[in-house]
Amino acid sequence: ARHFLARGKANEKLGAYLSTNEDVTLAQAAAADRRLAAGERSPLLGVPIAHKDIFVTRDFPTTAGSKMLEGYLSPFDATVVRQLADAGMVTLGKLNCDEFAMGSSNENSAFKPVLNPWDPSRIPGGSSGGSAVAVAARLAPAATGTDTGGSIRQPASFTGITGIKPTYGRASRYGMIAFASSLDQAGAMARTAQDCALLLSAIVGPDPDRDSTSLDLPAEDFSRSLDGSIDGLRIGVPKEFFGEGLAPDVRAAIEAALQQYVKLGATLVDISLPRTELSIPVYYIIAPAEASSNLSRFDGVKFGHRARDYGDLLEMYKKTRAEGFGDEVKRRIMIGTYVLSHGYYDAYYLQAQKIRRMIADDFQQAFKQCDVIAGPVAPTVAWKLGEKSDPVANYLADIFTLPGSLAGLPGMSLPAGFGAGGMPVGLQLLGNYFGEARLLNAAHKFQ
Ligand code: GLN
Repeated sequence: ARHFLARGKANEKLGAYLSTNEDVTLAQAAAADRRLAAGERSPLLGVPIAHKDIFVTRDFPTTAGSKMLEGYLSPFDATVVRQLADAGMVTLGKLNCDEFAMGSSNENSAFKPVLNPWDPSRIPGGSSGGSAVAVAARLAPAATGTDTGGSIRQPASFTGITGIKPTYGRASRYGMIAFASSLDQAGAMARTAQDCALLLSAIVGPDPDRDSTSLDLPAEDFSRSLDGSIDGLRIGVPKEFFGEGLAPDVRAAIEAALQQYVKLGATLVDISLPRTELSIPVYYIIAPAEASSNLSRFDGVKFGHRARDYGDLLEMYKKTRAEGFGDEVKRRIMIGTYVLSHGYYDAYYLQAQKIRRMIADDFQQAFKQCDVIAGPVAPTVAWKLGEKSDPVANYLADIFTLPGSLAGLPGMSLPAGFGAGGMPVGLQLLGNYFGEARLLNAAHKFQ
């Protein structure tokens, strides 16, 4: 723990951490030592980890990357945080992210951007950019992340690490500050599939009293199946993931990775996910709609920021929210409120929900022909800070991660090679519901 805290301090310019507390970390490490001394043995006992600042923690402030929650201290730990602490993991601190997890470059953090350690003039991806950089720059051996529309997979891809988002509902959302509740899912980010398997095994499981959408499936030990044979594994390659928008350097790295899988005994199957393009408008209706509802709780009354001077209650709400939220969050609240409003609900939100179902059905058609689906995580390697100032340009870059999110499928990114500028390229693997073990097995064999 001391080693990683020191590395974190020496690399502060990367912007990965939002808060650390050496006393708390070392006290947790001492407690892990006592468990070890008492004879307890488990693979995560005493291993340091850092958490995305979207998970509430009792011992560290939680901001969700927003001024709205600056200095906020939660009275409880998120279920995922508690589960990892129960497994003996030692918390190094809280990691930077896009404000309320809205973004794909980490430039939407209200506090500071995160820099990509492979090239500090580039973004690390987002919204779990701090998590990705902490692992990639060895400031932490492991990190938690959350993925609503790609926020684990895309930063993992951009920083050359491994990240997995389980099936929607496998990990508890309790204590994860809500962005879009029907999509939000916690997951693991680490160097390898093997490490991710250990973390995910500790994270998944039902939380019936605290998250009504958590699935009633038993915990699973994902380490047990890592070494299984992938001979004959049918890998579906969706043609829509290899269209015009895909940068040639990324395409080359992905195609080489697919050939590597063929050498390992897998077979490639051409498949189609015909509504891939629609996933962008569908997601950018549904996610803001849910966000506008979830974020209504930040009104300056119970917690978080409150405007200093105001006349009446309404003015207090208005000023508080105007001051506390950043531009992207405000944009989404406005879009979300609009698409949910009486006159437009049928035209936008209802339509989007129908197409969401069709996107999920397309995957079920595809999984009749294949066991896993593979393709790029993002159309390009990590771009330069400030390069995509237009929000729509950011949204378009989510095209390959959004379909799996809308369908609630498990997905991961594993390092596949390098593209332009020597930047890492991740291979995306998508599995059918509850197919995490198979994904981790396929990723492990590749690594
Ligand atoms: N980039 C997507 C967005 O901005 C996904 C974010 C996420 O998964 N949290 O909404």
